[in-house]
Formats: sequence, structure tokens, C-alpha cells
Amino acid sequence: MFIGVHAMLPVVIATAADIACTAKSQKRAFSVSDRWAFGFCGILPDVLTPHIGLHSRLTSFSHTLWFVLAALPVLLILSYLWHRRNFMRFAIFCWFAVTLHLLCDMISGGIAPLYPLSAKVFSFYRILPKFWIPLDVLTISVFMTELVLLRKLETKSDLLYVVRKR
Ligand SMILES: [Zn+2]
Repeated sequence: MFIGVHAMLPVVIATAADIACTAKSQKRAFSVSDRWAFGFCGILPDVLTPHIGLHSRLTSFSHTLWFVLAALPVLLILSYLWHRRNFMRFAIFCWFAVTLHLLCDMISGGIAPLYPLSAKVFSFYRILPKFWIPLDVLTISVFMTELVLLRKLETKSDLLYVVRKR
């Protein structure tokens, strides 16, 4: 998949959590800067080893299980230094964004998670390249829709409207 889905998918999920928290307690789960960080973590494996061809992806260190395992303690430390408050939740979500990238690559061409120990490719080629740009557009559209919903929820009158409608 292209960078749009990788960046936007964790952001869409984080914004869905924001919507749920706002509807429940009128407080977002994540800040705007948190969402930027999630989007960056979503593209991190491609940023660290930029590639075009599938072969390059299959031999890149950032698309392996080792990278995912190494990313967790690094993200925990960086998160503690940067975030402090709720650093664990923030770090876990950043790590989830990195992992989600590899899962998306797994269903769109494959990855070799054990490289260089093993070149075995884990591939579930379900999402063909012709769908990658439409998926970019779709995830961005879903995010824009979520933002509109979130803004509506944040106004008191709309909250009352939602409560009355139930
Ligand atoms: Zn990738």
C-alpha cells in the first residue's frame, strides 16, 4: 500500500477513539500532536528504508519482526521523555501504528519478517495495487468525516442533540 494508508490508518483509529471518548466524557483520548506522531509511526518503516520494488521491501530491516520488537523499548523511552503523562498509552499506540504498517504490507505483497535469518515471505496478496490509491483516498475521506463528527460532538448543543436522539 502507499504512504497515505500507512499514515492515515492509525490516525483514523485514534480519531475513532477520540470520538468515542468525546461522546462519553467530552474529552478527547489523544491530542493533535499525538495523531501526527501516530501518522509518522505509521510510515516509519518506509521512512527508514525507502523503497519502490517489492524485493527491496523484503530485504529491508524495518519490515522485520526484529524491527517491531526493537521499536517497542525505543518508543517507550522516547514517549516517556516527550509525553510523560499517559506515556504508556501513547507509546503502545505508536508501536501499534508501526505494527499496522507491517500488517498492511503483509496483505499487499508481503514481508519477510525473519530476514536475514530466513527469507521466507509472509504474503497474503489480497489487496492489489490498483486499489492502493483508492484506499489512500478512502482513509483520508474517513478521517475528514471523523473530524467533522468530532467537532460536532464537541459543541454542547450537538451533544444534547445526540442524547435526545437516543
Ligand atoms: Zn512498507
